[in-house]
Amino acid sequence: MLQRFKRLFARKTAARASAPRRIPAHRHQLSPADVSPGAREVVAKLRTAGHQALVVGGCVRDTLLGKKAKDFDVATDATPEQVRALFRRARIVGRRFQIVHVHQGRELVEVTTFRAGHERHGAPPARGELARSNHRGVLVRDNVFGSLEEDAERRDFTINALYYDPATDELLDFVGGLADMAGRTLRIIGDPATRFREDPVRMLRAARFRAKLGFELHPATASALSELSPLLAEVPPARLFDEVVKLLMNGHGLAAYDALRAYGLLAHLLPDTAAAAADPRWDRFLRQTLRNTDERIAGHQRVTPGFLFAALLWPPVANAVYGDPDPPTVAALNQAGAEVLFRAVRRVAIPRRFSAPAREIWELQPSLEKPGKRSAGQLPGHPRFRAAYDFLLLREQSGEHLDGSGAWWTRFQEAAQPERDAMLEALQAAPRRRRRSRRRTRTAGTE
Ligand code: ATP
Ligand code: MG
Repeated sequence: MLQRFKRLFARKTAARASAPRRIPAHRHQLSPADVSPGAREVVAKLRTAGHQALVVGGCVRDTLLGKKAKDFDVATDATPEQVRALFRRARIVGRRFQIVHVHQGRELVEVTTFRAGHERHGAPPARGELARSNHRGVLVRDNVFGSLEEDAERRDFTINALYYDPATDELLDFVGGLADMAGRTLRIIGDPATRFREDPVRMLRAARFRAKLGFELHPATASALSELSPLLAEVPPARLFDEVVKLLMNGHGLAAYDALRAYGLLAHLLPDTAAAAADPRWDRFLRQTLRNTDERIAGHQRVTPGFLFAALLWPPVANAVYGDPDPPTVAALNQAGAEVLFRAVRRVAIPRRFSAPAREIWELQPSLEKPGKRSAGQLPGHPRFRAAYDFLLLREQSGEHLDGSGAWWTRFQEAAQPERDAMLEALQAAPRRRRRSRRRTRTAGTE
């Protein structure tokens, strides 16, 4: 299919809106059946009410690439108020960028009003509070409505600006998205620097799509990205948290990590982690973390942001407190953890419901590394034991030598009581361990 695109759209295209290339039904691979019933219903209802309505964005892109679309976005010329009035279960969300969430059965369809870009529309005051950029060109409001053509132009990447009309079965391409699909190119629409300045989150989206689709960044998009990565400092930390989770917990986390490092983005998200990752040992640990996360997602196993952030921030925490042959005390770990988290949340607002489990995972590491006779028996009952044990295995998997403690805990958990007792006795019997276990017993008591 991509070969066919190539032949059809070999012409070099600038990423600028022009007359749309209307691709009739028999020249593309989409069919109305590819659109979810909910999105089809939303489009039909908007059209019946006299509005334009098309599906757009990731669902069109992913379906054309033969992937299953995650969710469906609908673009329309109806205003958010008009959309809301048409549907029973609809709610306007967002301030910076209003969209309407329409619930159709169990499906959620996101309906967005056509928007115009900003360069074309002159100074913000003329548009009042609908659109506003701050002094550095960052869009703080983005609710200037526009035509379908303008809507295509304000989207982020050419491959995200393909529209499909389920009523006529036509595909609409204003900015050369099909050619870039064929060339497996991720290209920002318009001037890369301007578009990244308007919304620096687009830089993270570039990393995400590169990871997810395996596309190459267009050279102009790539060079602007490397140059402008410090602009991530402009993005509110809460939004960065959402984006980091989307980047690293979407099944392509390892590739996303590579993209974040390749474009210097990680240094502006988690500076301490990025600095530690210069050490091959920590790079190996972070890569192993993301490889495991990807595998768990592929296997439909649970992944949690608490565990992920425990791992992402572990290199700076461990650098601060590990060094002696003996593990650190819980107090030292807690202090280092608190400091690392304090610095991290200024960039990426990790909510407490995730940072608290991360701290517990860290805190349990010394007791797991060197199980003590008196504390070890109780540890499996700790609510965070399982995560902390997985974390210990991850550390070993990435090459840390922890005296076989991962295997010890695996055996301990599988053992029946008499064998457990014997294992605990053996700990006491070993003089080296006994000395250390006393210390651990004292510190573990504070948990
Ligand atoms: P996926 O849903 O797989 O993450 P997507 O492309 O659908 O990918 P969404 O975040 O759902 O991503 O956004 C839907 C569409 O809205 C995008 O395809 C793009 O056209 C547009 N869009 C989203 N975020 C931005 C942005 N920051 N700047 C410009 N356009 C954007
Ligand atoms: Mg989407």
